[in-house]
Amino acid sequence: MRIVLLGAPGSGKGTQAKLLVDKYRIPHVSTGDLLRAVLAAGTPLGLQAKAAMDAGQLVSDEIVLGIIRERLRANDARKGFILDGFPRNIPQAQALDETLRTLNQPLDVAVLMDVDFDALMQRLTGRRNCENCGASYNVYTNPPRLDDQCDRCGAALHHRADDNEETIGNRLRVYDVQTRPLIEFYRSQGRLEVLDAVGEVNVIFKRLLLLLDPVVKGTRKPMPPPLQTGTKPAKGKTAPQPLSRAGKLPAAAKGKPVISRSSGKKPEKTPAKPARSPAHKAHAGKLAAAARRSMKKPAVKAAGVKGKAAKAGKRVAGKKPLKKSAGRK
Ligand code: AMP
Repeated sequence: MRIVLLGAPGSGKGTQAKLLVDKYRIPHVSTGDLLRAVLAAGTPLGLQAKAAMDAGQLVSDEIVLGIIRERLRANDARKGFILDGFPRNIPQAQALDETLRTLNQPLDVAVLMDVDFDALMQRLTGRRNCENCGASYNVYTNPPRLDDQCDRCGAALHHRADDNEETIGNRLRVYDVQTRPLIEFYRSQGRLEVLDAVGEVNVIFKRLLLLLDPVVKGTRKPMPPPLQTGTKPAKGKTAPQPLSRAGKLPAAAKGKPVISRSSGKKPEKTPAKPARSPAHKAHAGKLAAAARRSMKKPAVKAAGVKGKAAKAGKRVAGKKPLKKSAGRK
């Protein structure tokens, strides 16, 4: 099975991808992870990528495509893969199609992880990872028993350098401008599926498996192209629902887990969101407001933008820096 997981930073692509690896025994290919490895190796390529990554901008297509082509040609990717964080713009998606065509391994499905904006902010600012055993935590929704220490292996937890408020604002803005058009790209190919990615990790995973079931069985039918505005759906049929800003389904569909149209199975009940303290709510609200302000700024050129330039833009816009989050070091 060849899958693209599509969605904003913090939509849970990495978490779900890891669960899919255990289920289907196919590799998780994350361009973010691959780039961080190149960066850690201290190669000239890594240094080139670092400036863009630190600023929350996209690394150049040239670098990313070089890395991904090599990865997809590796032996373990022959039986399938889960792409996470790639493609991130239309040229990357076209290059992926081309690479997979030459490998004679077309993409099966692109799954959009649909999460609302406030949940994204909470996930991004609160996430911590164990670099030793790979366990993931969130200081708001899934905290470790001991502060900054892994429950599983006791190693110190890591807060990603680009999970700070300023870089997060840039990353969401970049997503909005460059990555969001991929929703239409894959929809027009009939490859798009939309997953309600809000709630407990395991509940989302169950929905994902339900959605992928027809793909695994080879019975998935491509999604019909969207109706033109003003065209009435045929009698007894529902018009495809438009997606709102965050790739979120409209209010009418809220609370209903989105499952494959072809599985025919009843959606399970969505559990209530985990309780959040008033302090957490206020904090996440503050972060969301700051990111929204930052997203209103004109898009900065994708590759090669230095952190300083982004900061200068911020000062011009008169944006005040935010206080550090409670769980941040
Ligand atoms: P991620 O771990 O997917 O959030 O990626 C972290 C950072 O790596 C992003 O903010 C980008 O700077 C860079 N990156 C990851 N994947 C790509 C990609 N497909 N194209 C360009 N830059 C990428």
